[in-house]
Amino acid sequence: MPELPEVETIVREMRQAGLLGLKIERAIILWERSIANLSSSDFCQQIANQTIHDISRRGKFIVLSLTNHTVLVHLRMTGKFLIDTEGALPSSHERIRLYLSDGRILRYEDQRKFGKWYLTEDPQKILEKIGIEPLSINFTLNAFKGVLKGKKKQIKPFLLDQQFVAGIGNIYVDEALWMAKIHPLRSVESLTAKEVQSLHKAIIFVLKKGVDNIGTSLGTSRANYYSVSGRRGSNQESLNVFRCDGLPCARCHTIIEKIVVGQRGTHFCPKCQLCRVYK
Ligand SMILES: [Zn+2]
Repeated sequence: MPELPEVETIVREMRQAGLLGLKIERAIILWERSIANLSSSDFCQQIANQTIHDISRRGKFIVLSLTNHTVLVHLRMTGKFLIDTEGALPSSHERIRLYLSDGRILRYEDQRKFGKWYLTEDPQKILEKIGIEPLSINFTLNAFKGVLKGKKKQIKPFLLDQQFVAGIGNIYVDEALWMAKIHPLRSVESLTAKEVQSLHKAIIFVLKKGVDNIGTSLGTSRANYYSVSGRRGSNQESLNVFRCDGLPCARCHTIIEKIVVGQRGTHFCPKCQLCRVYK
């Protein structure tokens, strides 16, 4: 599932591909339920002839700012974008196609069909519940302390909850907790000041590294993450715990274990991330 580094890579590549300033001449919907808030016909009618003025990211959402509306895309499990020439035939997993004014098409594929598009005049209504951006200058240690304050949840489900910190998913949360030497079952309120500081640093570090490595591509099938230009990310080569169960910890050589936390496969080092109980 694309997380902040993968979505950020997609946004950057769309901008680099020269989509800014192009007009969407028309749209074709191949799977109606990919549009979350409108019928296919309303979507196609409203998006036609609008210009793409900006492409950005908020949490795991891709944000296309158009002349009158905003398109918000959440890729969920297998959503992906491709840019092609106009004559390209639809692929079997293609769900939406936008015809652009320079003769190219923006294709949206989604094998599992969980991804959602919103065309709206009021994007804030959908985005307002998303928490602080961890790679923004606003994500200071003090701001992170403020987000953690008074919370009683376990730290892993807490970090996966998009209303607190935006964009982190299963891969990067396991990596950040390993780096900060915090057991995924610890409660937020049990974290010491030193651990909060380490975790703050670790979240920024693992996400930045993910962006630098143009994301994490786990498998090789088309259902896995690929960037818009069709590149696989390389961050999977430098993961320390995610899907490393059975392998020795890079720091202490103890075998990495896998447990389930909040229905998510969770990887950790039982020695480095010892579940100490603090008052
Ligand atoms: Zn270890």
